[in-house]
Amino acid sequence: MRWAPAGRRLAIVTSPKVRLRPEIAALVPYRQGRAAAEDAFKLSSNENPYPPLPAVLAAMAQSSINRYPEGSAAALRERLGARFGVSPECIQVGAGSVSLLTQFILAAASTGDEIVYAWRSFEAYPLLVGISGATSVQVPIFADGRHDLDAMAAAINDRTRLVIVCSPNNPTSTIVTRAEFTAFMAKVPADLLVVLDEAYIEFVDDPAAVRGAELLQTYPNLIVLRTFSKAYGLAGLRIGYAVGAEYVMDAARAVAIPLAVTELAQRAAITSLDHEDELLARVATLNDLRGKIYAGLAALGFAIPRPQGNFLWMPTGENTAHAVAVFESHGIVVRALGEGVRISVGEAESVEKLLMAAAQLVPTRETAPSATTLD
Ligand SMILES: *Cc1c(COP(=O)(O)O)cnc(C)c1O
Repeated sequence: MRWAPAGRRLAIVTSPKVRLRPEIAALVPYRQGRAAAEDAFKLSSNENPYPPLPAVLAAMAQSSINRYPEGSAAALRERLGARFGVSPECIQVGAGSVSLLTQFILAAASTGDEIVYAWRSFEAYPLLVGISGATSVQVPIFADGRHDLDAMAAAINDRTRLVIVCSPNNPTSTIVTRAEFTAFMAKVPADLLVVLDEAYIEFVDDPAAVRGAELLQTYPNLIVLRTFSKAYGLAGLRIGYAVGAEYVMDAARAVAIPLAVTELAQRAAITSLDHEDELLARVATLNDLRGKIYAGLAALGFAIPRPQGNFLWMPTGENTAHAVAVFESHGIVVRALGEGVRISVGEAESVEKLLMAAAQLVPTRETAPSATTLD
């Protein structure tokens, strides 16, 4: 069935324009990491390089995709509730943790309200805040990539409705420590929602790092956000979850798009939990590669933040475009984010190429050993 002659595209008239919400019309849509050429390594989206486990594929094949999914993801929530020692009602499952964050933002904030988060951090934050009509209050990170939690606490006022803390932080791969986080929470009003985004928690090996699950009983205003996209390798299926107070989860459920979490994704997530040991062994392998890359960059004279996610941050400053081009010429697609380059830990074969590319770069003021502490 065709509505236009073959090969022709009808122009849709754009004037006069319909009235859109001005704050939405002003937003820039989310930009993905670029697709990589066939023979290049795509290290631009923090994806897991491993293919799905056979058991995950087998479980997905059981899905009745002619039917709507069971929308509340009851079986998965039951499973996760048991793991976190909370009732299933204290778990909310969404089509990616980005969907969940959207739900919490919409539930807590709108025009005139403020949402505080570190910057630079996850690029989705300003966009999601923008959708709600609330105002982003971006608190600059330290030069070494860490959250400045004192400044974030100081940025909270009567209009603040939500604070996002990202640990490990995307793109700097730095953690917030447990001590820093508890000191921060002590300053946060008890009626202010705090979302701890732990998209990369499975990659953390620093024992000082905050782990939100341990603190849910201490801070009733805390929500922990997790995803199956990174360590569990299900980015393409879109599934994540949040843990926190039931009434806050109910508010998120109220604003959620119905039936957005597919049965395919729910089955894959449950099966991934069944096979977690295999998946965490992959994480350990990726962390070994991360260590090699970090050590290799240090040997080349780059002092970068000690990475705790499945990615590393090179603050290349004004050399960023050049750095991207050099990596690209070596078959490595990285992500330029403002004042630096984020490199995902991917296939083992990418490491040598990556370090060969880095050897062509000169450490800048930002990445020279004097700027940050090597540890
Ligand atoms: C990748 C990422 C997520 C996860 O997004 P999904 O929607 O679950 O795929 C969330 N937060 C941060 C900081 C991320 O980098």
